[in-house]
Amino acid sequence: MRELVQRLAKDAGRPYSEVAERVNRDVKAGKSLAASVQTIAKKYGLRPSDYRFDSKKIAARIKSILCADYSQTLMISAVLAQMVESNGPNRLSPPAFFAFMEFLSETTATARRNKTEPPTHVEESTMKIIELTTSLVSVICKWSKTGISGVADDCPEELVSIAKTVVRKTKLYQAGMWTCLSCGRIVALRKTRALLCPECDARLSQDIPRPASTSTKRERHRVGYGRSLPGEKID
Ligand SMILES: [Zn+2]
Repeated sequence: MRELVQRLAKDAGRPYSEVAERVNRDVKAGKSLAASVQTIAKKYGLRPSDYRFDSKKIAARIKSILCADYSQTLMISAVLAQMVESNGPNRLSPPAFFAFMEFLSETTATARRNKTEPPTHVEESTMKIIELTTSLVSVICKWSKTGISGVADDCPEELVSIAKTVVRKTKLYQAGMWTCLSCGRIVALRKTRALLCPECDARLSQDIPRPASTSTKRERHRVGYGRSLPGEKID
């Protein structure tokens, strides 16, 4: 996202801050990030088609980071889960988090089997994932003043289901509802604890840690942040 705006500013011969400010103004007015960049490129006499976000490429990069190292991916999950819950300046936007979860649910099955070295670039990879997921939801979803309003018209076919899930979960979130990260049930946001429904939270906190070999099932619950089960039930 930043790279594209930087390139646009450079090609237009304008300071980055000026271009970034215009983009921010547009986005606040309800324009999508992608549409804003295109309009600005045109205004500067550049070819708008040279400044497209490639959502497929962004998705591929997210997947490759998540698949590269499963233990690192789990650490990233934990950090992002904390960030989405926090109210501080480091708060992660829920739509970006929902997109992350979708990718995570797709990748765990294969990545889990990979034998990996201890993770070394967690912080760097986490920052990259935040940037990528934030950029992705800005282009695959349609935005308005109040936030996400639907799936973007030009969302590529293979990303439509992710976009739909992000839209649905964001709307639930705005209505004060949350999808439990473990069982996928929809519960009131104020009832959640550590992003889980009260039942899952109670079950997980009762569990006494056991050796990894006997705790496969529970572990799946504990770490399976990305699980979004088909046919989620309304509480
Ligand atoms: Zn639950």
